[in-house]
Amino acid sequence: MTVFSAFTDQQVITDLTQSVPDGLVVTDSDTLREYSFSSRMTDDDSGLALAVVRAHSVPDVQGTLDVARKYHIPVVTQNQFTSTVIGADGLAGSIILSTKDMNQIIEISKADSLAVVQPGVINGDLDAAARKQGMFYAPDPGSKKISGIGGNVATNAGGMSTVKYGATKDNVLGLKVVLADGRAIKVGGRTLKQAFGYDLTQLFIGSEGTLGVVTEVTVKLLPIPLGQSAVGIAFFDNMTRLADAVAAIRISGVYPTMLEALDAPTIAALDQYEAPTTAITVAPC
Ligand SMILES: Cc1cc2nc3c(=O)[nH]c(=O)nc-3n(C[C@H](O)[C@H](O)[C@H](O)COP(=O)(O)OP(=O)(O)OC[C@H]3O[C@@H](n4cnc5c(N)ncnc54)[C@H](O)[C@@H]3O)c2cc1C
Repeated sequence: MTVFSAFTDQQVITDLTQSVPDGLVVTDSDTLREYSFSSRMTDDDSGLALAVVRAHSVPDVQGTLDVARKYHIPVVTQNQFTSTVIGADGLAGSIILSTKDMNQIIEISKADSLAVVQPGVINGDLDAAARKQGMFYAPDPGSKKISGIGGNVATNAGGMSTVKYGATKDNVLGLKVVLADGRAIKVGGRTLKQAFGYDLTQLFIGSEGTLGVVTEVTVKLLPIPLGQSAVGIAFFDNMTRLADAVAAIRISGVYPTMLEALDAPTIAALDQYEAPTTAITVAPC
C-alpha cells in the first residue's frame, strides 16, 4: 500500500533539531535500532523509530512533544529501557523520547526524609546515596541496579520488599510531568499527608508513559532500621506448610523485609547455575 504524507521525514527531523535546545536528536540507523527494539522480547508491534531524542531538560521534552503534535507522530517515552513488556520499544515512524540522560539527584533531605530526582537516576544509585545519609529507598525491583526511577514510576515497579514497604506507588510523594500538549505540571508534593483533592500522582504511577512524561520525582526515604539484620532459611515438605509458616511469621511481631519461597526445581536450577562449593544438609521443618 502506498502511503502519502504531507511532510517528509527530513522536515520532522529538522524541526526536532530546532526544537530541542539542550539534548540530542539522533537518527543514525544503528542508534535507531538500539533504541527501538529491546533484546528481551520481540513483538510484531515494535517498529523502527524515525528519531531518538535524548532529552537533557524540560524544554527538550516540551519541544519534542510540540513537534510530535504538529506532525501527528506517536511518541514513545523511554528511560533505561529495561522494560520486560516492550513498553518502551519503538513504533514504526515514532519519536523515542529518552529521559535517561536526565539523571541528577537534585536533593536528599534528611530532615524531610525525601529525595528529589530526575527520571534517569538509577534506583540502586538513589538507594546508595540515601544510605550514605542513614536512609534508604525501599522499592527494590530485580532491575534495581539498571532501571531508572522514571521507568519505575511508569511501571509501578516493586520487588521482594514490597509486602513490607510497598511498591513505587507507596513511595512517591510528588511528580513533575509534561503533558502531551506541552504543559509542565506538578502533582503531589513533599509531605506525607496530602489528604484533600484528587490524587493525580497515583494516576500517573503505572500509566506506562501514556499520560505524560515524568521529568522529576519526589520520593519518600526511610531511616535504616537499628540493629543487625538476620537472614534465615527454612525447608518445608510442601507449599501448604510453607504458606502457614509465612502467615505465622507475619503476625508474630517480627515483620521480615523479604520472604522468598523457592520450590525444588528452582533450587536445583539455582544450584546448577551457581555451582556451590559447599553442600548444605538440612532437615525439613
Ligand atoms: C532483570 C529484571 C528484573 C526485573 N524485576 C522486576 C521486579 O522484580 N518487579 C517489577 O515490578 N519489575 C521488574 N522488572 C521490570 C522493571 O522494573 C521495569 O523494566 C523498570 O521499572 C522500567 O524502568 P526503566 O527505567 O528501564 O524504564 P523503561 O524500560 O525505559 O520504560 C518502562 C515504561 O515506562 C515508560 N517511561 C519511561 N520513562 C518515562 C518517563 N520519564 N515518563 C513517563 N513514562 C516513562 C515507558 O514508556 C515504558 O512504558 C525487571 C526488569 C528486569 C530487566
